[in-house]
Amino acid sequence: MSAEARALVEEAIGVVCTQAKLDPQSSVAIDEMQARPSLPINSPEARTGGVRAQRLLPVAKNLVITSLRQLAGDYNFQKSPKFRARINQAIARINSVKRVRPDMESRDNASVFLSRPHVITFGTIFLAGLRSDEGMISVLAHELMHIADGDNDSLRPLVAAIGNRASDLTGLDIHGQRAEEVTCDLVGALAVRKYVGDTPGYESITRRLARSVEHNCVDLDEGDEDHLSPRNTIRALLALHPVLVRELINDRSDQ
Ligand SMILES: [Zn+2]
Repeated sequence: MSAEARALVEEAIGVVCTQAKLDPQSSVAIDEMQARPSLPINSPEARTGGVRAQRLLPVAKNLVITSLRQLAGDYNFQKSPKFRARINQAIARINSVKRVRPDMESRDNASVFLSRPHVITFGTIFLAGLRSDEGMISVLAHELMHIADGDNDSLRPLVAAIGNRASDLTGLDIHGQRAEEVTCDLVGALAVRKYVGDTPGYESITRRLARSVEHNCVDLDEGDEDHLSPRNTIRALLALHPVLVRELINDRSDQ
């Protein structure tokens, strides 16, 4: 990445994490969610989040399918009949998802058990912490992308290509499971961007787009073998998506 592109990415991260503080509906940062006590399924915040997640699940499914097709085209996989067949199977898996299951024990995580691929299990703290439709769609899309990849990692060539590109752009090590997590987050960001375009509203584009990644605006920025640190996750996503960088920077009327 050029020094200029790198500076724009850092500026956009600043915009996102400023919105995280200003926006009353911003997503709570992951480290803050981790520090919270577990939340009963019947608490009002968890119920509100659960209703939001279930309402947006059909929308998120369509957005993920569109985003997956777009990525396959962008990364030149559409010409391969073998890969097209894999995409079609991935879409069938996405379409078979029916339900979000709130779970107190899962706390600030959402997960998919590939033995039960029709259900996304969603921690109640996470349900309560994603306080906007955009924030919720980004996480639903992330989990749907895991389901799309399936238990045989059938989209691995695309995932690896995205990971390699992100590694080249950022100098970070984004391979293996990290590539899958970044790809799922990228699909989340693409899904939200499309959703914002499809549903004009009174809020600024910047504020709405920021919600797709702002749960990563942590103070305690730690990663592990399978995940980049949250702030490096934003960095990698924005490096992969310069259009999103420009949109975040250009429409910041409410800051
Ligand atoms: Zn994941």
